[in-house]
Amino acid sequence: MHLRNVALALRSLTAIHSSNKPAIAFAFHPKQHQHRRMTLHSTAVEPSLTSATSTHANPLLRSWSTEPFHLPPFKSIEPRHFEPAFEIAMDAHLKDLESIANSKQEDFESILAAYDRAGATLSKVYSVYGNYVSSLNTPEMQLVQTKMAPLLSRHTSKTYNVPGLFEKISKMNEVRDDMVKSGEWTEEMGRLAERVYIKFVRMGALLGEEEKKEYADIQAELATLQTNFMQNVLKDEEEWELILTAADFEGCPPDIIAAARKAAIDRNKTQEDAHVITLGRSMVEPFLSYSTRRDLRQKVFEAFAKRGELNPERDNKKIAIEILRLRKRQAELHGKKTFAEYQLEDTMAQTPEAANKLLMDVWTKSKVAADKEREMMEAFLKESGECLESGIQPWDWRFYAEKVRLANFNFDENEMKPYFSLDAVTDAVFDVSNKLYGLKYVKRPDIVAYHPDVNVYEVRHDTADGEEELVAIFLHDNYARPYKSSGAWMSEYRTQTKNLIPGSDPIESIPIVSNNNNFAKGSDDTLLSFDDGVTLFHEMGHGHHGMLSDCTYEYLASTSVLKDFVELPSQLMEHWLSEPEVLKKHAKHHKTGEILPDELIKKFKAAELFNEGFATIEYTSCALFDIAIHSLTEYSDDFDMAKFEEDYLKEMGMPQGIIMRHRPPHFLHFFASSSYAAGYYVYMWAQVLDNDVFAAFKETGDVFDKDTAERCRKLIYSAGNTVAPQDLFRQFRGRDPEVKFMLENRGLI
Ligand SMILES: [Zn+2]
Repeated sequence: MHLRNVALALRSLTAIHSSNKPAIAFAFHPKQHQHRRMTLHSTAVEPSLTSATSTHANPLLRSWSTEPFHLPPFKSIEPRHFEPAFEIAMDAHLKDLESIANSKQEDFESILAAYDRAGATLSKVYSVYGNYVSSLNTPEMQLVQTKMAPLLSRHTSKTYNVPGLFEKISKMNEVRDDMVKSGEWTEEMGRLAERVYIKFVRMGALLGEEEKKEYADIQAELATLQTNFMQNVLKDEEEWELILTAADFEGCPPDIIAAARKAAIDRNKTQEDAHVITLGRSMVEPFLSYSTRRDLRQKVFEAFAKRGELNPERDNKKIAIEILRLRKRQAELHGKKTFAEYQLEDTMAQTPEAANKLLMDVWTKSKVAADKEREMMEAFLKESGECLESGIQPWDWRFYAEKVRLANFNFDENEMKPYFSLDAVTDAVFDVSNKLYGLKYVKRPDIVAYHPDVNVYEVRHDTADGEEELVAIFLHDNYARPYKSSGAWMSEYRTQTKNLIPGSDPIESIPIVSNNNNFAKGSDDTLLSFDDGVTLFHEMGHGHHGMLSDCTYEYLASTSVLKDFVELPSQLMEHWLSEPEVLKKHAKHHKTGEILPDELIKKFKAAELFNEGFATIEYTSCALFDIAIHSLTEYSDDFDMAKFEEDYLKEMGMPQGIIMRHRPPHFLHFFASSSYAAGYYVYMWAQVLDNDVFAAFKETGDVFDKDTAERCRKLIYSAGNTVAPQDLFRQFRGRDPEVKFMLENRGLI
């Protein structure tokens, strides 16, 4: 099994452009790197699978061939189906692996190609499970997750310890260079041998028997703790609410008020005129930006910043420390001093020092920018004769930033919103996708997924001989709702592969890709902020990574690239939304159809970089903190997470009025899975790459330049992990990445 980043996708954070940068999103935490796909399965068909027929009582185990495009049979799936399906599928997976280990054959096909196909049933069950615990995590599903997390972890450990298997994998790794050189293997086959070997080693295959046992225990315990951590955040987000009336929304634009009213109805508030503020970022940030009520802003901000510790009975700080201790021990078993060292070893950056160096460069420059922004806000206060008790606090920053934006640039973000309906932005992203990569999206309203909000599309392109061909199935789940994780992410129900189990329907090689966002649903049209639009483009970038994947082996396909490359495809896509060519065509007023006026575009461009210092500090402080806390060599019994956070930020000179975008008690990237732990820096790392790649388009004078787009498709979106990422970049750009494009685009130089 490999782990695929599944979820991946998180939107990152930080964003890049724009004003209030959204956040990031994470979401998928858990899964990530979990790979979703487990690999395995080879030609051996175990008895449990032969019974997988179209009439199997458990819809997760039956053949999905009667569903359109072999999608999961969503309407039949219930939480109770997961546990028994996992039991059978995990067993089948181990049998697949055992048959590889016991096979007399020693060739690539019998070992690595079979390894890549192994565990097909488990991959299917897991893909649905992973998507349900993020998008439909009802109380019943949460119980399933609590039960399954350690069992799945145990299973993963077992798959790396099947007797005789690692020896075979090692042999493949030893001969790979010679086989590739002699032409018997393709480059991709060589890469598969290398990556599978590295994965086994990183999962402890070289450890002694006692240590292996300890390693598996650590993984299982981490899985449970990480699940608890994530569920605690979800519970805080579900439970907390602030009931207001329309009169309490002074200063707020109508769409926020409408969204709060809708939230009140959804939560069955019967009081007349009830409006509810929830802890979703798409509601909190606009409220903080526009509410004139400082007392209410403070209340909402404090609750938002304390997610994960709002209820003392489920305080995530304690769980986080336990997680840190276990990770430290995990690293020690690998002979590393810290988890950061272990985690960074298999990345482009390779060491915590290299990641820190980039972050510190950005940190120093962004502090200067943030200080300047605060000075502008203070000047505004002085001029307007306002006096803020205790100065600009974190619940004031967004509010006064908007005031300055309006006063100094005559730009009000709200003027943009009517031009950014969800429909308009969706049309825009599909059009950009078509112009760059030739993809066409055909809506299939007749196909119902796991929730009525989810739109299903066939994604097609033209072949060389002019025929239309199916490339992928795309699921778009855009609205916030109860039991859906906050944030935004991409995931897959099926990953692209050409290495199908013999006899499979060819449709099984076509990826099924999903994008989740969390936009507050409007009562008629849903209007997005510019940042929401950036988030939607971001996730579509991950979506392209899945849909355009063109690899032979699933293990290397799609988003299964090194961590600090994975945000390149997504962040790159963000650039097109602010291109005038795209705005002029798609940013249409949702009521009148009027095109976004030039004047507004001009003002938007002028104001775009204002508050970039704030956004960069919010993100970079998290990324630095992440490496710092995972670089400790001890977490003593009296280790105090809150104090560490406070001391660290003080030492770093955190600008007054800003806090970390995600604080440790709800930092899902750190603690809901291990995949982004000591890895939050990847967004910044990838920003260096995406700004450099986008500059290549700009240099041609046409952001849709055909030749550049084709090389981008081939090297960035289709190659998966078949080639080392630094080599892909060099092939694209003819040189190593340069930091200056990112610094320029963020206005930091
Ligand atoms: Zn992302």
